[in-house]
Amino acid sequence: MCGIVGFTGTKKAAPVLLNGLEKLEYRGYDSSGIAVRDGENNPVVIKAKGKLEALVEKTNGGETVVGSCGIGHTRWATHGEPSETNAHPHVTADMNVVGVHNGIIENFQELKDKLIRKGYDFYSDTDTEVAIKTIDYYYKKYKVGPIDALAKTMVRVRGSYALAVMFKDYPGQIFVARKESPMIIGVEDDSAYIASDVPAIMNYTRNIYYIDNLEMACVKPGEVVFYNLDGDVVPKEKKVAEWNVEAAEKGGYEHFMMKEIHEQPRVVADTIRRGLGGTVDSITDEGMGITDEDLKKASLLYVVACGSAYHVGMAAQYVLEDIANISTRVELASEFRYRKLPLDKNAIMVVISQSGETADTLAALRKAKEAGIRTLAIVNVEGSSIAREADSVFLTQAGPEIAVATTKAYTAQLIAMYMLAIKAGVARGVISGEEGARYVEEIKSIPTKIEKTIDDKERLQWFASKFSNITDAFFIGRGLDYAVCMEGSLKMKEISYVHTEAYAAGELKHGTISLIEENTLVIGVLTQAELIEKTISNMKEVKSRGAYLVGVTSYGNYVVEDSTDFTIYVPAIDEHFVASLAVVPLQLLGYYFAVARGLDVDKPRNLAKSVTVE
Ligand code: GLU
Repeated sequence: MCGIVGFTGTKKAAPVLLNGLEKLEYRGYDSSGIAVRDGENNPVVIKAKGKLEALVEKTNGGETVVGSCGIGHTRWATHGEPSETNAHPHVTADMNVVGVHNGIIENFQELKDKLIRKGYDFYSDTDTEVAIKTIDYYYKKYKVGPIDALAKTMVRVRGSYALAVMFKDYPGQIFVARKESPMIIGVEDDSAYIASDVPAIMNYTRNIYYIDNLEMACVKPGEVVFYNLDGDVVPKEKKVAEWNVEAAEKGGYEHFMMKEIHEQPRVVADTIRRGLGGTVDSITDEGMGITDEDLKKASLLYVVACGSAYHVGMAAQYVLEDIANISTRVELASEFRYRKLPLDKNAIMVVISQSGETADTLAALRKAKEAGIRTLAIVNVEGSSIAREADSVFLTQAGPEIAVATTKAYTAQLIAMYMLAIKAGVARGVISGEEGARYVEEIKSIPTKIEKTIDDKERLQWFASKFSNITDAFFIGRGLDYAVCMEGSLKMKEISYVHTEAYAAGELKHGTISLIEENTLVIGVLTQAELIEKTISNMKEVKSRGAYLVGVTSYGNYVVEDSTDFTIYVPAIDEHFVASLAVVPLQLLGYYFAVARGLDVDKPRNLAKSVTVE
C-alpha cells in the first residue's frame, strides 16, 4: 500500500516530493515524511502524524527544506501504530542510510534480533527500520557499495517491498529495490523521479521506466541504471505514459469519488471501443486479449479477484453462464491462493484488479500459471505486475482512479466481463453472431443510461440526508441482483461507516432477519423479472417486522413501487447488463451518506487504494 516518491535533480526536492505524495495519498494516509539532502550534508528528516497536510504545514509546502535530492512516503501502517516515530523515512543512528519502504518484511523479528546482537538499537516498531538497518549492516560489512548491500538484503528478507534509499557517501543519488510492491522511475532532462504510481509524477514527466521484480536501480539527476540481483546492469526500455494530468485532478467536483462516478459513461464507451478493436459490433481477439479458439476449448472459467473486483466476478458469473454456457467459478484471491484444490488445466483464469498490483490476486495468477492454466488479466494500469505476468491483458479504460472507493474502475471491469461473455458465447456457438452483435448494441447504450441515472442524483441526496444517522443497513437481492447488492453494501460501509451487509434475499430468514427492528433500512435490488416477486416476498417479510424498504429496479417494473417505501428507477436494459446501471444509485447513496455524515469521502479511515500487502 503506501506511497513512495523520490526526486533528484537541480531544483528544490521537497516541493516535488510533497506534490507527488499528494497524488499518492489515496494509497495510505496515517502519517507521512520526507528526507532531503543538500549536497554532501546529512539528510534532513521531517515527519508528521496524520494526513499529508500536517507535513505540508510543517515544511511550508516544502519551501523551508533545502536540497535537491530526497525521498518521501505516505504510510499505511502494518507494523506499529500510526505515529511520528513509526512514520517513514527511517534512518540509521549515524545517518549512513535513510530510506522509505512500501510493503511488509515478514522475517523482520529474526533480522531485528540478529542486528541487536550486532549492536544496533531500534527506535520504532516498524519492519521498515529493520530493513534499513540490514542494508546498513551489509554495506558496512562487505564495503562493496549500495547495489551490493541492497542485493544482499533482498536475498535475506522475506516479504514484499519497494525501497528507496539514500547513502551518506552517494550525494545526489537514490537507490531503489523492488519485490512485489509497485514502483516506477521517470526521467526528464536533468531530473529523475521515483514513485509508486504514475499520477505522482505526471506533472513532471511522461518518460517512465518500470522496474521489475527483484531488480534494483541507481537513480541520478537525468539518469537511471537498472541492476539484477547479481549486480549486472539490465537494459530497460522507456515507456511513455498515456494518462493525462487532468484525469488525476478533481476538475471542479468536491470529491474524486463524485468526479469518477460522472466519468463512468466515458469510461464505458472507451472500454467497449477497446474490446471492439476497430470493428462496429464484434469483439476481436486482439481487442479482448483472448482468441475464440481458446474460449471454445475452455472447460471452465476461474474468475479470481478481491474486493469490488470480486463483486464484478460475481455479477459476471451470471452473464457468462447464461450467455456463454460456461461454468464459472468466482473465487476470492486471498482464499484461492492458499487452497489445495484440483485445478483444471483446460480452464482459463481471469484475474481482475484495478491497480494490477493486488498482492493476493497476483499470487493467484502465479498459482494458475504454475498449474499450466491460461491466464487473462483485466487491469487498469498498464505495466503493472499483473499486466506483465498474465498471458494476455485486457486494459480497462478507466484512467487514474484516485478515490479509495472504486466506482469507474468497477464499471469498466464489468464491461470487460460482458464482452468476454459475448465473445465466448459466439465462439462456443451458444449464441449466433447476430445475437452477439445485438448484445454489443445493448452494452453500447449503457453510457447514456448511466448519465440518465446520475441525473436523478438529487433525490438520492435528499434520501441520504434523511437517513444518514442510521447504524445498519441490509442489501438484499437474488441472482445478479445479489451481486449488485454486494457492491452497493461495500460502497456504503467503506466510506460512510454504516454497518451494512449484503444478503441473498432467500437467505435472510436463515438468521439475519433477527436483526431487523423498527425502521431498519433494507435496500432491495429487483431487476431480474423472473425473481422480482420472490424478492418482494422477502422484502414483505422484513417489512412486517418494521423495516423501511427501498427498492432499486428498472423502469417498467412498477410492481416494486407498491411494496416499497422509496423506489429508485434505472433505465431499462437487457437484464444481463443491468448491474452497470443498478450499481450507480448505490454508489451515489454511499457517497451522499458519507457526505451527510461529514466524512472524508475520498480517504476513508484504515483503507488504502491498492492493496499490495496480503
Ligand atoms: N510495513 C511498513 C510499515 O508499517 C510499511 C507500510 C506501508 O507500506 O506503508 O511502516
